[in-house]
Amino acid sequence: MMTSMPDNEIPLSRPDITELEERMVMSTLRSGRLSIGPMVEQFETLVATRAGCTTGVAVNSGTSGLHLALQALGIGPGDEVITTPFSFVASANCILFVGGTPVFVDICPKTLNMDPAKVEAAITRRTKAIIAVETFGNPEYMQQYASIAARYEIPLIEDCCEALGTRYKGRDCGHFGRVGVFGFYPNKQITTGEGGMIVTDDLRLAEMCRSLRNQGRPLGFVMPGSPMESAAGGQSAGSWLRHERVGYNYRLSEINAALGVAQMQRLDSIIEKRQSVARMYLERMGTNSDLIMPTVDPEAFMSWFVFVVRLAPSYTIEERDRIIRGMRGHDVGAADYFPCIHLQPFYQEQFGFRAGMFPIAESVSQRTIALPFYNSLTRNEVDLVAQTLELMLKRENIRRD
Ligand SMILES: *Cc1c(COP(=O)(O)O)cnc(C)c1O
Repeated sequence: MMTSMPDNEIPLSRPDITELEERMVMSTLRSGRLSIGPMVEQFETLVATRAGCTTGVAVNSGTSGLHLALQALGIGPGDEVITTPFSFVASANCILFVGGTPVFVDICPKTLNMDPAKVEAAITRRTKAIIAVETFGNPEYMQQYASIAARYEIPLIEDCCEALGTRYKGRDCGHFGRVGVFGFYPNKQITTGEGGMIVTDDLRLAEMCRSLRNQGRPLGFVMPGSPMESAAGGQSAGSWLRHERVGYNYRLSEINAALGVAQMQRLDSIIEKRQSVARMYLERMGTNSDLIMPTVDPEAFMSWFVFVVRLAPSYTIEERDRIIRGMRGHDVGAADYFPCIHLQPFYQEQFGFRAGMFPIAESVSQRTIALPFYNSLTRNEVDLVAQTLELMLKRENIRRD
């Protein structure tokens, strides 16, 4: 395999692309059909089925999927949406796209997901949805958020971008809420280069998402000559140039979808590899008292998005950042997943969020270190990562004395 990385570098992530992916992308290129075709439909079916949902709507990113889900649910100006401050920025930005108001609630220090009691306490007359994230893929509390959402008759949107293939107590991630959204950026469990997928059992909601991703073309629109046309009895619900609402071009290309189909066919073996790498890390570093390992509920079947350790409470953010820089200096990938969303400059300016508002999320986010994590990581490389981290911890301890 060709790689642009020097041999001795251990990157933060690395996609797992085999001959199957190459073959499927190549045959799509040769088919002459590069948009709105059989690969997108196959990919939608594979992902929706894996998430236990009736239908899937492929889009060009996870962010686009979140945007469409909120818009299709009718969320708009004046509406409050409850979500977590400890996540990738897109899980809250989608609220801003539709003009809604983000309402953050603090997290639980063990699972790093929103504290369910705080979710319930944050509900007001204006609350129109809850967006829940499986932080670093941890599926705990999803059922609790779903119960709260049901009790208050508001939709739960599952931002399951970090949890493809994860199950909790026999339920698939993607199927806890009214709608789920996956992302397929190259560091996720599977990749399409760029891409995303909305999954749901609500066929009307899915149709609205299909229209919105495709320039507002009519509900039920079927591209003439597409594989869906025969399923629709040869009837197309509208013409290519009829636009019934303001829509977007959020379509996923056939080329990206072909990559996704190949990756989905390999998902079980991909998950096995990720579980094995996670086990190696836990075995190698689990007893280090300077580090807090990710916890996994025994009832969770984890597909493992990333491997993020936390420094003990005595460490400062300056020390953490120096450790990350030191690891990178030794050609070992490391990152500060995630800075709190409410402290990003435009959230502070627009909404008046300040440090101290969500103390647990802030404290956790100052001490996290994402370590290299990908399918082909070997035991020797895990050992090298651990040795490098241990060296950096030792340096910090010497500095203190
Ligand atoms: C990856 C991710 C997304 C979507 O990212 P895209 O790059 O737009 O595909 C959204 N939310 C979370 C929590 C993510 O981790």
